[in-house]
Amino acid sequence: MTRKITQVGIVGAGTMGHGIAHVSALAGFEVQLYDVTLAAAEAGRGKLQMNLEIGVEKGKVTQAAFHESLARVHCTDRLEDLAGCQLVIEAIPEKLALKQDLFGKLSAICAAEAILASNTSSLSLTEIAASASNPGRVVGLHFFNPVHLMKLLEVVRAFQTSDQTLEVVKAYGAAIKKELIVVKDSPGFASSRLGVALGLEAIRMLEEGVASAQDIDRAMELGYGHPMGPLKLGDLVGLDVRLAIAEYLHAETGSPTFRPPQLLKKMVRAGKLGKKSGEGFYTY
Ligand code: NAD
Repeated sequence: MTRKITQVGIVGAGTMGHGIAHVSALAGFEVQLYDVTLAAAEAGRGKLQMNLEIGVEKGKVTQAAFHESLARVHCTDRLEDLAGCQLVIEAIPEKLALKQDLFGKLSAICAAEAILASNTSSLSLTEIAASASNPGRVVGLHFFNPVHLMKLLEVVRAFQTSDQTLEVVKAYGAAIKKELIVVKDSPGFASSRLGVALGLEAIRMLEEGVASAQDIDRAMELGYGHPMGPLKLGDLVGLDVRLAIAEYLHAETGSPTFRPPQLLKKMVRAGKLGKKSGEGFYTY
């Protein structure tokens, strides 16, 4: 089995995909960056170039590493161009049917032992793996935004993921200089489950009039060293996205911890979605 990774395929060159391409190229991997149109893939490469340039300005990336990394990123709109990759990571929209369709296609294109990874932040890896041939090579690689700055990589082990697959992705994670945690496939993994629990409790506290939004956030920022309080973070993520994840976690676990607060539902119904709509717990 050829398990040494030299070529990484990235499917989806959006917010997350271009960041995953960035850290992979910087670590010396050849990158095939795929999107549905060549223009979308090239736009992702453009953002990656801008972030590398900022790295050079800050003295974190050398001129040589900048040029070499950029030269390693190849844009394509042909999925077949990922045939030679030993690791493919998808960062396409968060829809199970879309991801399952992609894993079916990749199964036909890539070598039988190529590792197929998903950057899903909430979907069941076990269900995604079921749509691939040889599902033992499917694993979750949950990156955080912005990928080139955030240290954490949450490795999610599907029911089918083999020990060997886990070992190979751990080596990849070390090569791209991330700190890894390994989590069993379960609703919300570790990061979303804890983050959403905190965010929903903060909304319930606001609803009960315990403190103002600013003071609830300051409690976690100044008392616990969180870079951003839970309400501000909810505004940034989008309250509609928060509500959808809360509903999913509530349905999957049955736990009252994840029952969406009325205030959150009302705000979403009123179109107050956070930063993207101009108003959430704060005004933008
Ligand atoms: P995005 O919308 O920024 O990018 C998605 C990209 O996928 C777009 O460039 C789009 O053209 C492309 N695309 C759409 N359909 C495709 C298809 N069928 N095949 C190939 N490419 C396709 O999305 P994003 O924020 O980068 O999220 C991608 C994944 O990462 C999702 O599963 C999301 O849950 C997860 N995620 C996002 C974040 C975040 O903060 N944005 C954090 C962690 C995980």
